[in-house]
Amino acid sequence: MATDSTTNNDLHRHRKKMTDEFGAGTLDKGICLFHCTQCGNEIADPSVRTIADASYNDLQSISALTVRLAKSMAKSDLPDCSNCKVRSRLKHYDYHLYHATESRDLVVRATPPKGVFSRWTTESFWWNPEKSYVAIERLDNRQQIELSLSILRRRLEIASIIEDPDIEKIAAIADQLLNTIPGHALLLESASVFVKYGKTSIAGAIADAHIERHPQDAKGYECLGHVIFSVVNNKAMPLEALEEAIEHLNKALQLDPNSVQASISLANCYRLQNRIDKSKSVFQNLLSRDPNCAPAHYNLGIMALESQYPNDALRYFESGANLEPDDADFPMGQARALIMQRDIEKANLAFDRAKELDPDHPMINSLLTDLQSFN
Ligand SMILES: [Zn+2]
Repeated sequence: MATDSTTNNDLHRHRKKMTDEFGAGTLDKGICLFHCTQCGNEIADPSVRTIADASYNDLQSISALTVRLAKSMAKSDLPDCSNCKVRSRLKHYDYHLYHATESRDLVVRATPPKGVFSRWTTESFWWNPEKSYVAIERLDNRQQIELSLSILRRRLEIASIIEDPDIEKIAAIADQLLNTIPGHALLLESASVFVKYGKTSIAGAIADAHIERHPQDAKGYECLGHVIFSVVNNKAMPLEALEEAIEHLNKALQLDPNSVQASISLANCYRLQNRIDKSKSVFQNLLSRDPNCAPAHYNLGIMALESQYPNDALRYFESGANLEPDDADFPMGQARALIMQRDIEKANLAFDRAKELDPDHPMINSLLTDLQSFN
Protein backbone atom coordinates (compact mmCIF):
# COMPACT_ATOMS: atom_id res chain seq x y z
CA MET A 1 0.00 0.00 0.00
CA ALA A 2 1.54 3.28 -1.09
CA THR A 3 0.86 6.27 1.08
CA ASP A 4 0.90 9.99 0.76
CA SER A 5 4.05 10.49 2.82
CA THR A 6 6.11 11.49 -0.20
CA THR A 7 5.86 15.04 1.13
CA ASN A 8 8.49 13.98 3.69
CA ASN A 9 11.08 13.20 1.03
CA ASP A 10 13.88 15.16 2.65
CA LEU A 11 13.53 13.33 5.94
CA HIS A 12 13.40 10.02 4.11
CA ARG A 13 16.56 10.82 2.19
CA HIS A 14 18.20 11.71 5.48
CA ARG A 15 16.94 8.43 6.93
CA LYS A 16 18.41 6.42 4.07
CA LYS A 17 21.76 8.16 4.45
CA MET A 18 21.81 7.31 8.17
CA THR A 19 20.96 3.62 7.64
CA ASP A 20 23.57 3.31 4.87
CA GLU A 21 26.10 4.72 7.30
CA PHE A 22 25.15 3.09 10.59
CA GLY A 23 23.16 -0.08 9.75
CA ALA A 24 21.94 -1.75 12.93
CA GLY A 25 23.25 1.19 14.95
CA THR A 26 20.89 3.67 13.26
CA LEU A 27 18.86 5.62 15.77
CA ASP A 28 15.07 5.47 15.70
CA LYS A 29 13.20 8.32 14.19
CA GLY A 30 9.69 9.78 14.37
CA ILE A 31 8.42 11.21 11.07
CA CYS A 32 5.07 12.99 11.23
CA LEU A 33 2.59 14.06 8.61
CA PHE A 34 0.30 17.00 9.41
CA HIS A 35 -2.83 18.22 7.65
CA CYS A 36 -4.93 21.31 7.55
CA THR A 37 -8.55 20.69 8.50
CA GLN A 38 -9.69 23.73 6.48
CA CYS A 39 -8.09 23.24 3.06
CA GLY A 40 -6.91 19.64 3.37
CA ASN A 41 -3.31 20.61 2.65
CA GLU A 42 -0.77 18.01 3.80
CA ILE A 43 2.29 19.39 5.57
CA ALA A 44 5.59 17.56 5.84
CA ASP A 45 7.31 17.24 9.19
CA PRO A 46 9.54 20.30 9.69
CA SER A 47 11.53 18.55 12.47
CA VAL A 48 14.01 15.71 12.71
CA ARG A 49 12.69 13.67 15.65
CA THR A 50 15.44 11.33 16.81
CA ILE A 51 14.62 8.89 19.58
CA ALA A 52 17.89 7.94 21.18
CA ASP A 53 17.31 4.96 23.42
CA ALA A 54 13.67 3.96 23.66
CA SER A 55 12.62 0.89 25.56
CA TYR A 56 10.69 -1.84 23.74
CA ASN A 57 10.99 -5.55 23.19
CA ASP A 58 8.37 -6.34 20.56
CA LEU A 59 5.83 -4.90 18.14
CA GLN A 60 3.25 -4.37 20.85
CA SER A 61 5.54 -2.26 22.99
CA ILE A 62 6.70 -0.29 19.93
CA SER A 63 3.02 0.48 19.16
CA ALA A 64 2.40 1.63 22.72
CA LEU A 65 5.51 3.82 22.59
CA THR A 66 4.47 5.37 19.25
CA VAL A 67 1.03 6.33 20.56
CA ARG A 68 2.65 7.76 23.68
CA LEU A 69 5.05 9.89 21.61
CA ALA A 70 2.27 11.07 19.29
CA LYS A 71 -0.02 11.97 22.20
CA SER A 72 2.73 13.89 23.95
CA MET A 73 3.33 16.27 21.03
CA ALA A 74 2.94 19.88 22.04
CA LYS A 75 0.79 22.41 20.20
CA SER A 76 3.98 24.19 19.22
CA ASP A 77 5.03 21.02 17.34
CA LEU A 78 2.15 21.54 14.90
CA PRO A 79 3.15 23.70 11.89
CA ASP A 80 0.79 26.33 10.45
CA CYS A 81 -0.90 25.77 7.09
CA SER A 82 0.77 28.08 4.57
CA ASN A 83 -2.56 28.69 2.78
CA CYS A 84 -4.89 29.29 5.72
CA LYS A 85 -2.38 30.41 8.37
CA VAL A 86 -4.11 28.16 10.92
CA ARG A 87 -2.46 25.49 13.02
CA SER A 88 -2.45 22.06 11.38
CA ARG A 89 -3.35 18.76 13.04
CA LEU A 90 -1.38 15.56 13.24
CA LYS A 91 -2.40 13.15 10.50
CA HIS A 92 -0.13 10.36 11.69
CA TYR A 93 3.08 9.69 13.54
CA ASP A 94 5.46 7.16 11.94
CA TYR A 95 7.97 5.50 14.24
CA HIS A 96 10.90 4.21 12.18
CA LEU A 97 13.30 1.61 13.50
CA TYR A 98 15.92 -0.22 11.49
CA HIS A 99 15.34 -3.97 11.31
CA ALA A 100 18.77 -5.59 10.98
CA THR A 101 17.60 -8.97 9.61
CA GLU A 102 15.29 -7.40 7.02
CA SER A 103 17.76 -4.58 6.18
CA ARG A 104 14.89 -2.10 6.08
CA ASP A 105 12.85 -0.03 8.49
CA LEU A 106 9.94 -1.38 10.45
CA VAL A 107 7.45 1.43 10.85
CA VAL A 108 4.64 1.72 13.34
CA ARG A 109 2.11 4.38 12.42
CA ALA A 110 -0.13 5.92 15.08
CA THR A 111 -3.21 7.77 13.86
CA PRO A 112 -5.20 10.06 16.18
CA PRO A 113 -8.90 9.32 16.91
CA LYS A 114 -11.26 10.41 14.13
CA GLY A 115 -14.27 11.08 16.38
CA VAL A 116 -14.97 11.75 20.05
CA PHE A 117 -15.51 8.09 20.90
CA SER A 118 -12.92 6.55 18.64
CA ARG A 119 -9.43 5.62 19.73
CA TRP A 120 -5.87 5.92 18.52
CA THR A 121 -5.10 3.27 15.93
CA THR A 122 -1.77 1.73 14.97
CA GLU A 123 -0.66 -0.04 11.81
CA SER A 124 2.73 -1.37 10.81
CA PHE A 125 4.73 -1.19 7.59
CA TRP A 126 8.03 -2.14 6.06
CA TRP A 127 9.76 0.88 4.63
CA ASN A 128 12.66 1.23 2.30
CA PRO A 129 13.44 4.18 0.06
CA GLU A 130 12.66 2.28 -3.17
CA LYS A 131 9.34 0.75 -2.22
CA SER A 132 8.13 3.33 0.29
CA TYR A 133 5.64 1.90 2.82
CA VAL A 134 4.36 -1.66 2.46
CA ALA A 135 1.69 -2.66 4.97
CA ILE A 136 2.36 -5.60 7.26
CA GLU A 137 -0.74 -7.69 7.92
CA ARG A 138 0.80 -9.35 10.92
CA LEU A 139 4.19 -10.60 12.00
CA ASP A 140 4.36 -14.39 12.23
CA ASN A 141 6.24 -16.04 15.09
CA ARG A 142 9.49 -16.19 13.19
CA GLN A 143 9.25 -12.49 12.28
CA GLN A 144 8.40 -11.58 15.88
CA ILE A 145 11.55 -13.36 17.04
CA GLU A 146 13.60 -11.74 14.30
CA LEU A 147 12.32 -8.37 15.40
CA SER A 148 13.42 -9.05 18.98
CA LEU A 149 16.81 -10.27 17.72
CA SER A 150 17.17 -7.13 15.67
CA ILE A 151 16.36 -4.98 18.69
CA LEU A 152 18.96 -6.90 20.70
CA ARG A 153 21.57 -6.53 17.95
CA ARG A 154 20.93 -2.80 17.80
CA ARG A 155 21.20 -2.40 21.56
CA LEU A 156 24.46 -4.36 21.63
CA GLU A 157 25.85 -2.19 18.87
CA ILE A 158 24.95 0.95 20.81
CA ALA A 159 26.41 -0.56 24.00
CA SER A 160 29.74 -1.03 22.24
CA ILE A 161 30.04 2.66 21.40
CA ILE A 162 28.62 4.48 24.42
CA GLU A 163 30.09 4.83 27.91
CA ASP A 164 27.18 3.81 30.06
CA PRO A 165 24.60 1.70 28.19
CA ASP A 166 21.28 0.82 29.81
CA ILE A 167 22.25 -2.75 30.56
CA GLU A 168 18.89 -3.52 32.21
CA LYS A 169 17.08 -2.90 28.93
CA ILE A 170 19.48 -5.15 27.06
CA ALA A 171 19.11 -7.84 29.72
CA ALA A 172 15.30 -7.66 29.51
CA ILE A 173 15.26 -8.44 25.82
CA ALA A 174 17.93 -11.13 26.08
CA ASP A 175 15.94 -12.70 28.88
CA GLN A 176 12.84 -12.82 26.70
CA LEU A 177 14.79 -14.37 23.80
CA LEU A 178 16.37 -16.90 26.13
CA ASN A 179 12.86 -18.30 26.68
CA THR A 180 11.97 -18.43 22.98
CA ILE A 181 15.26 -19.26 21.20
CA PRO A 182 17.80 -20.53 23.75
CA GLY A 183 21.10 -21.39 22.11
CA HIS A 184 20.95 -18.61 19.50
CA ALA A 185 24.39 -17.33 18.47
CA LEU A 186 23.49 -13.68 19.09
CA LEU A 187 22.57 -14.46 22.70
CA LEU A 188 25.99 -16.00 23.26
CA GLU A 189 27.53 -12.94 21.65
CA SER A 190 25.65 -10.73 24.13
CA ALA A 191 26.96 -12.71 27.13
CA SER A 192 30.36 -11.01 27.14
CA VAL A 193 28.63 -7.61 27.32
CA PHE A 194 26.64 -8.80 30.33
CA VAL A 195 29.81 -10.05 32.04
CA LYS A 196 31.49 -6.70 31.37
CA TYR A 197 28.66 -4.86 33.15
CA GLY A 198 28.31 -7.35 36.01
CA LYS A 199 25.07 -9.02 34.84
CA THR A 200 26.60 -12.44 35.35
CA SER A 201 23.41 -14.40 36.11
CA ILE A 202 21.92 -13.73 32.68
CA ALA A 203 25.31 -14.38 31.06
CA GLY A 204 25.57 -17.72 32.89
CA ALA A 205 22.01 -18.70 31.92
CA ILE A 206 22.79 -17.91 28.26
CA ALA A 207 25.95 -20.05 28.38
CA ASP A 208 24.12 -22.92 30.12
CA ALA A 209 21.36 -22.90 27.51
CA HIS A 210 23.95 -22.80 24.71
CA ILE A 211 25.78 -25.84 26.08
CA GLU A 212 22.51 -27.74 26.38
CA ARG A 213 21.57 -27.05 22.72
CA HIS A 214 25.07 -27.23 21.23
CA PRO A 215 27.10 -29.61 23.39
CA GLN A 216 29.85 -29.87 20.73
CA ASP A 217 30.40 -26.11 20.42
CA ALA A 218 33.44 -24.90 22.37
CA LYS A 219 32.00 -21.39 22.66
CA GLY A 220 29.36 -22.30 25.25
CA TYR A 221 31.95 -23.81 27.64
CA GLU A 222 34.36 -20.95 26.96
CA CYS A 223 31.62 -18.50 27.94
CA LEU A 224 30.50 -20.36 31.06
CA GLY A 225 34.10 -20.68 32.27
CA HIS A 226 34.62 -16.96 31.71
CA VAL A 227 31.40 -16.09 33.57
CA ILE A 228 32.32 -18.20 36.61
CA PHE A 229 35.83 -16.72 36.63
CA SER A 230 34.36 -13.21 36.62
CA VAL A 231 31.97 -13.96 39.46
CA VAL A 232 34.80 -15.40 41.60
CA ASN A 233 37.08 -12.52 40.65
CA ASN A 234 34.40 -10.13 41.96
CA LYS A 235 34.29 -12.16 45.16
CA ALA A 236 30.62 -13.12 44.66
CA MET A 237 31.54 -16.84 44.73
CA PRO A 238 34.25 -18.67 46.71
CA LEU A 239 37.58 -19.62 45.10
CA GLU A 240 36.52 -23.28 45.00
CA ALA A 241 34.10 -22.43 42.20
CA LEU A 242 37.12 -21.93 39.93
CA GLU A 243 37.44 -25.72 39.68
CA GLU A 244 34.18 -25.79 37.76
CA ALA A 245 35.33 -22.92 35.55
CA ILE A 246 38.57 -24.77 34.78
CA GLU A 247 36.58 -27.89 33.86
CA HIS A 248 34.47 -25.94 31.34
CA LEU A 249 37.52 -24.17 29.90
CA ASN A 250 39.41 -27.43 29.45
CA LYS A 251 36.37 -28.85 27.70
CA ALA A 252 36.32 -25.78 25.43
CA LEU A 253 40.03 -26.26 24.61
CA GLN A 254 39.46 -29.95 23.97
CA LEU A 255 36.79 -29.06 21.38
CA ASP A 256 38.74 -26.10 19.98
CA PRO A 257 42.45 -26.14 20.89
CA ASN A 258 42.92 -22.75 19.19
CA SER A 259 40.42 -20.88 21.34
CA VAL A 260 42.30 -17.81 22.51
CA GLN A 261 39.55 -16.69 24.89
CA ALA A 262 39.40 -20.09 26.61
CA SER A 263 43.19 -20.05 27.10
CA ILE A 264 43.12 -16.54 28.53
CA SER A 265 40.29 -17.39 30.94
CA LEU A 266 42.01 -20.62 31.97
CA ALA A 267 45.28 -18.80 32.68
CA ASN A 268 43.32 -16.17 34.64
CA CYS A 269 41.69 -18.89 36.75
CA TYR A 270 45.09 -20.38 37.61
CA ARG A 271 46.40 -16.94 38.47
CA LEU A 272 43.48 -16.31 40.81
CA GLN A 273 44.18 -19.68 42.44
CA ASN A 274 47.76 -18.48 42.90
CA ARG A 275 49.05 -21.30 40.65
CA ILE A 276 51.37 -18.82 38.97
CA ASP A 277 53.55 -21.33 37.11
CA LYS A 278 50.52 -22.99 35.52
CA SER A 279 49.09 -19.61 34.60
CA LYS A 280 52.40 -18.51 33.04
CA SER A 281 52.70 -21.70 31.05
CA VAL A 282 49.20 -21.28 29.55
CA PHE A 283 49.99 -17.68 28.56
CA GLN A 284 53.42 -18.66 27.18
CA ASN A 285 51.83 -21.47 25.24
CA LEU A 286 49.36 -18.98 23.84
CA LEU A 287 52.21 -16.67 22.79
CA SER A 288 54.08 -19.48 21.08
CA ARG A 289 50.97 -20.06 18.95
CA ASP A 290 50.12 -16.39 18.52
CA PRO A 291 52.99 -13.98 19.26
CA ASN A 292 50.59 -11.06 18.70
CA CYS A 293 48.24 -11.93 21.56
CA ALA A 294 48.32 -8.65 23.51
CA PRO A 295 46.44 -9.94 26.63
CA ALA A 296 49.10 -12.67 27.03
CA HIS A 297 51.90 -10.07 26.93
CA TYR A 298 50.03 -7.95 29.46
CA ASN A 299 49.30 -10.73 31.94
CA LEU A 300 52.81 -12.18 31.72
CA GLY A 301 54.11 -8.65 32.33
CA ILE A 302 51.95 -8.24 35.42
CA MET A 303 52.99 -11.62 36.81
CA ALA A 304 56.66 -10.78 36.20
CA LEU A 305 56.12 -7.52 38.12
CA GLU A 306 54.49 -9.40 40.98
CA SER A 307 57.43 -11.81 41.10
CA GLN A 308 59.84 -8.84 41.16
CA TYR A 309 61.30 -9.51 37.69
CA PRO A 310 61.18 -6.00 36.21
CA ASN A 311 63.40 -6.90 33.20
CA ASP A 312 61.00 -9.62 32.06
CA ALA A 313 58.01 -7.38 32.81
CA LEU A 314 59.44 -4.58 30.72
CA ARG A 315 60.00 -6.90 27.78
CA TYR A 316 56.35 -8.07 27.83
CA PHE A 317 54.93 -4.57 28.25
CA GLU A 318 57.11 -3.24 25.44
CA SER A 319 55.94 -5.93 23.01
CA GLY A 320 52.34 -5.30 24.13
CA ALA A 321 52.71 -1.55 23.58
CA ASN A 322 53.96 -2.22 20.05
CA LEU A 323 50.90 -4.36 19.36
CA GLU A 324 48.36 -2.04 21.02
CA PRO A 325 49.85 1.46 20.92
CA ASP A 326 46.59 3.06 22.12
CA ASP A 327 46.19 0.89 25.23
CA ALA A 328 47.29 2.80 28.35
CA ASP A 329 47.81 -0.43 30.32
CA PHE A 330 51.11 -1.14 28.55
CA PRO A 331 52.95 2.16 29.20
CA MET A 332 51.48 2.02 32.71
CA GLY A 333 53.10 -1.39 33.17
CA GLN A 334 56.35 -0.07 31.66
CA ALA A 335 56.33 2.78 34.19
CA ARG A 336 55.87 0.33 37.08
CA ALA A 337 58.71 -1.90 35.84
CA LEU A 338 60.99 1.12 35.33
CA ILE A 339 60.29 2.35 38.87
CA MET A 340 61.31 -1.09 40.11
CA GLN A 341 64.55 -0.70 38.14
CA ARG A 342 64.91 2.82 39.62
CA ASP A 343 65.04 4.31 36.12
CA ILE A 344 62.87 7.25 37.14
CA GLU A 345 63.51 9.37 34.08
CA LYS A 346 62.19 6.73 31.71
CA ALA A 347 59.44 5.84 34.17
CA ASN A 348 58.19 9.42 34.02
CA LEU A 349 58.13 9.30 30.22
CA ALA A 350 56.14 6.04 30.22
CA PHE A 351 53.76 7.44 32.84
CA ASP A 352 53.14 10.58 30.75
CA ARG A 353 52.37 8.41 27.73
CA ALA A 354 49.88 6.32 29.73
CA LYS A 355 48.24 9.43 31.15
CA GLU A 356 47.90 10.91 27.70
CA LEU A 357 46.20 7.75 26.42
CA ASP A 358 43.86 7.43 29.40
CA PRO A 359 43.69 10.36 31.84
CA ASP A 360 41.25 8.37 34.04
CA HIS A 361 43.32 5.20 34.29
CA PRO A 362 42.72 3.66 37.76
CA MET A 363 46.47 3.48 38.50
CA ILE A 364 47.26 7.15 37.77
CA ASN A 365 47.15 8.33 41.38
CA SER A 366 49.10 5.53 43.03
CA LEU A 367 51.78 5.67 40.35
CA LEU A 368 52.05 9.45 40.62
CA THR A 369 52.66 9.06 44.38
CA ASP A 370 55.38 6.49 43.68
CA LEU A 371 57.09 8.76 41.15
CA GLN A 372 56.90 11.82 43.40
CA SER A 373 58.63 9.91 46.19
CA PHE A 374 61.79 9.95 44.05
CA ASN A 375 61.80 13.72 43.55
ZN1 LIG B 1 -5.11 25.10 5.03
